[in-house]
Amino acid sequence: MFDLNSLLRDNIKRLTPYSSARDEYKGEASVYLDANENSFGSPLPVSYHRYPDPLQWKVKYRLADIKGVPPQNIFLGNGSDEAIDILYRAFCRPGIDNVILCPPTYGMYEVSANINDAIIRKASLTEDFQLDLEAIEAAIDENTKMIFICSPNNPTANAIDKESIEMVLNNFDGIVVVDEAYINFSKHKSLIQELTEYPNLVILQTLSKAWGLAALRMGMAFASEDIINIFNKIKPPYNINQASQELALEALNNVEQVNAWIKETVEERNRLTGELAKLAIVEKVYPSDANFLLVKTTDAKGIYGSLVEKGIIVRDRSKVELCAGCLRITIGTPDENVTLLQALQNITR
Ligand SMILES: *Cc1c(COP(=O)(O)O)cnc(C)c1O
Repeated sequence: MFDLNSLLRDNIKRLTPYSSARDEYKGEASVYLDANENSFGSPLPVSYHRYPDPLQWKVKYRLADIKGVPPQNIFLGNGSDEAIDILYRAFCRPGIDNVILCPPTYGMYEVSANINDAIIRKASLTEDFQLDLEAIEAAIDENTKMIFICSPNNPTANAIDKESIEMVLNNFDGIVVVDEAYINFSKHKSLIQELTEYPNLVILQTLSKAWGLAALRMGMAFASEDIINIFNKIKPPYNINQASQELALEALNNVEQVNAWIKETVEERNRLTGELAKLAIVEKVYPSDANFLLVKTTDAKGIYGSLVEKGIIVRDRSKVELCAGCLRITIGTPDENVTLLQALQNITR
């Protein structure tokens, strides 16, 4: 049985969170002398002299509308990376508890585990980049607190079968983190509507990819209210600054623009897949549910270098497990993709 309380570290269970001035008095007033701000204003044309809303309710209400989940089930972090770090701090006793990672996958799960001294157990994906359920089962012990599943997965670009994710959710009593950073580009549905069914599910999404706001640093976690309350207890009081909250709110009113870009990205992805497959230097273009392609080549390092010489930068993933010979290529604008293809056509090795 899933029991959130028994998963939590004792220090977090006992923690009295920081209480800010804005936590203590939440109403409207005409004179605010409670937070030691500069009462005169800020040296900017817009006003930034007040601390921002610690729980970012305006952004969350807008996201709730878009995502179809209540605002109380949303956490906002300084990038998804903050959500990942908080999960480790909440659940993993340093040097004792372990997490299961399924490589090849997003590097931050491992870095964050190492920072927090959580033990890493690896259950590599299968040859076709799906979960190895037997390996996962074998890796679980009484100190396993979390399993990270990235779907669509970075760098392999494919979505993980929903049935196998649900198998893990149904049979593992720890936290299952499903990172959906690339879900907007996938033909597979988000698990977000399944939140009410799985108290152990944490879904990560981000404004950094489809939403075009990588520089804003805003990641989202969706989970039960109990888990979101834990996030809120641990996070720095004002983890999302006022400028980011305002800009996110403005951007979230531009769903049509974002959807148009997603559609165009998927069209370009399909076109690029076909064109790349024709090249002699390309052995395989893996199917993609994301805004990038994993491409197996005859000579990843050499091709990478030739592209750099032409001012085109891709990611060499050839040293990554199961990705020998592979480059990871982000889908560009139609012009950028033409430039890339022309450059690759001139490489004959
Ligand atoms: C890019 C990416 C993210 C986004 O991280 P942010 O900190 O929100 O920018 C998260 N997960 C995966 C798998 C990614 O590739």
